[in-house]
Amino acid sequence: MAEPRPAPVPPAPPGPPRPIAISEGVTVRELAEKMGVKVNDVLKKLLLRGIMTNVNRPMDQEMARQIALEFGYETSFVSFEESVVIEEKAARKGVHLVPRPPVVTVMGHVDHGKTSLLDAVRETRVVEREHGGITQHIGAYSVSIKNRGITFLDTPGHEAFTLMRARGAKVTDIVVLVVAADDGVMPQTIEAIDHARAASVPIIVAINKMDKPDAKPDVVKKQLSDRGLLVEDWGGDVVCVPISAKQKTGLEALLEMILLVADMQDLKGDPNLPASGTVLEARLDRSRGPVATVLVQNGTLRIGDPFIAGAVSGKVRAMLDDAGRKTDDATPAKPVEVLGLQGVPMAGDLFKVLTEEWKARQIGALRQQRLREEALQKSSRLTLDHLFQKIQEGVVKELSLIVKADVQGSVEALVKILTDLSSPKVKVRVTHASTGAITESDILLAATTNSIVIGFNVRPEKKAAELAEKEEVDIRHHNVVYNVASEIKAAMVGMLEPTFQEVPLGRAEVRNTFKVPKFGIVAGCMVIEGRIVRNADVRLLRDHVVIYTGKASSLRRFKDDVGEVKSGYECGIGLERFSDIKPGDVIEAFKVEKVVGKELYA
Ligand code: GDP
Repeated sequence: MAEPRPAPVPPAPPGPPRPIAISEGVTVRELAEKMGVKVNDVLKKLLLRGIMTNVNRPMDQEMARQIALEFGYETSFVSFEESVVIEEKAARKGVHLVPRPPVVTVMGHVDHGKTSLLDAVRETRVVEREHGGITQHIGAYSVSIKNRGITFLDTPGHEAFTLMRARGAKVTDIVVLVVAADDGVMPQTIEAIDHARAASVPIIVAINKMDKPDAKPDVVKKQLSDRGLLVEDWGGDVVCVPISAKQKTGLEALLEMILLVADMQDLKGDPNLPASGTVLEARLDRSRGPVATVLVQNGTLRIGDPFIAGAVSGKVRAMLDDAGRKTDDATPAKPVEVLGLQGVPMAGDLFKVLTEEWKARQIGALRQQRLREEALQKSSRLTLDHLFQKIQEGVVKELSLIVKADVQGSVEALVKILTDLSSPKVKVRVTHASTGAITESDILLAATTNSIVIGFNVRPEKKAAELAEKEEVDIRHHNVVYNVASEIKAAMVGMLEPTFQEVPLGRAEVRNTFKVPKFGIVAGCMVIEGRIVRNADVRLLRDHVVIYTGKASSLRRFKDDVGEVKSGYECGIGLERFSDIKPGDVIEAFKVEKVVGKELYA
């Protein structure tokens, strides 16, 4: 017997397709409702394509687009978060926005007192300790002053801040820049200023260690003004507070200033909405399962709320505040530990409460699938090789560079020369420039700002090199100022020669040195990565700074000449016409090849 044929679906109305916006994970039912057609008609169309599904299943984007087109609709897709924002805006009638506490990140140079400041501020919460709460580290904590709250992110340093931004999260409202009064502005101080500026976050300067006899706050202020941070008593608008984290002086003034700067930002949230926020930290706890510290940024998070955190779904089973106490709800700017996740999300993932649990699960599944697909695709990081093409396509109008060099003089020369390369079509901007090795923090900043990194007589630290590989950040090494400028210029006008790329072979650490008659100095080394090959190109690094570039003219194991030595073995290396070798130096061997693959340690 022939199967009954489905009744024909009404044809699409004439005329051009009408626009509709569809969110990620749209179900068959939702799509039908958006288009004002019967659910069954959508199901029939799917059936004609051989797809059996049910009304509550989410549709793949391409399929939803094609089906909608058949009904005469042109779809545009918005991510789930965007659609929620749109819905919230639409439902904005009954909103009541109330002021929320500011969220503060402490940054500054190592040893200037970031941790001490965070500890000192945390200890001002005497009231809570009297209630028996034990302060625990969950990645953030709140303090109150004058009946108002301030939330501090509890991981000092720049990596956390930039990592969040790299993942699209904006959590920090104010950066407190700690500068030691006896040490002044240092490389990481400058780095912090650049990071905060790149994120357009206001800076409050805390001049720390004021108790020290050699404290020179005026010198610090002068150095800051050289960096374009003009403090108030120098006629600028940057708030600056002298403190001593050790003696706990000036802390109240600092907190008051934070509130003052926060007032100018008019920070508000609506506690009536379902919660949204950002994952600050997440880990797998042996006894409790996946645990995430979430900073609620809007709305109120409650026990039992279904949610999505990045690609992980869940339902709030329990919440703990920063004093380790159970809590039933978390309002804007409150950090809480959340239990009840299906997996471990990543720091920086967006967190959003949904009305239905099944929807959270479905979006989680869809996103995990997309993450897998994305992992297979190449990222769209800017490289010099593709710069011209991107300029032509109008994708790139500004070339952002991060400059690292061995000495301050080179930094200044490079910044000047590079900025002067700006053309009417492309502006060249140096986002960060300083002396020293290329660090992880530089790579993260490059990844967030889509910058190209220029290393002038300096090399990346090992972790930074790995991160650059992973994030596909383009690092260009040079030792002649003129070459830097001509390379960038060539890339801007599409004249970049097909590049020769350096392929690292290996690294050896110098343990001691020997004088060999007629030859000179030979370095007694341990190969720590890859392999060292005789007559390979090598460079000698001292504290990540290139001291020598040339050839490994002799390579020996014990008394024998050998062709190569692998990682884990000792050897003697002699450098061609160079004998200023010292224990602790690193010898890097490499070969230069026309660009092919990206194999590390080939
Ligand atoms: P971080 O690396 O920026 O987190 O710096 P720490 O908080 O670990 O502090 C570095 C060192 O400076 C420690 O030995 C602290 O005891 C000391 N220190 C921090 N704040 C002060 C201060 O206000 N006065 C003095 N004299 N020492 C301080």
